[in-house]
Amino acid sequence: MSKLVAIVGRPNVGKSTLFNRLTGTRAAIVSEHAGTTRDRQYGKCEWCNREFSIVDTGGWVVNSDDIFEEEIRKQVLVATEEADCILFVVDNDNGITDLDQQVATILRQTKVPVILCANKCDDNKDIYQSAEFYGLGLGTPYCISAATGSGTGDLLDLVLEKL
Ligand code: GDP
Ligand code: MG
Repeated sequence: MSKLVAIVGRPNVGKSTLFNRLTGTRAAIVSEHAGTTRDRQYGKCEWCNREFSIVDTGGWVVNSDDIFEEEIRKQVLVATEEADCILFVVDNDNGITDLDQQVATILRQTKVPVILCANKCDDNKDIYQSAEFYGLGLGTPYCISAATGSGTGDLLDLVLEKL
């Protein structure tokens, strides 16, 4: 069976943009409005002659803050059960939020390899800001820009090492 990589993180960090970038499709809906991705979206990625599946999590509809957080928790827990590698996406423009901390707390307890992706590093100078994410206790934050594709090749090399 093909290996599965799950993309997790709070809304609006760029999970769907990254999914589309890695699968070379526009299957996942990208929106500036938080909570737009309704379903778990599966796709394929090929890199260095190896193929694996990717899932874009985030199937929640915003009703209240409580439900919102509970849904994110659920998605992250499902990812830790089904995935062979987890891409935890955070927003380099915003820094660490409470929701990031909550997701990190779950991910620090899983045996599944987690790669911390500091997204929206569109510019080289953005890497200085990304050091803040060491504070999540999940190791090195990898700077990427899902929008431009910058850093995503190195990210895929790293994913292959973990699978
Ligand atoms: P999701 O809710 O985590 O799936 O996030 P989306 O992929 O829907 O993206 C949320 C917003 O962030 C959209 O307005 C995207 O265009 C924007 N975005 C995503 N990736 C990047 C990036 O690498 N750089 C910048 N500047 N914006 C991005
Ligand atoms: Mg999305």
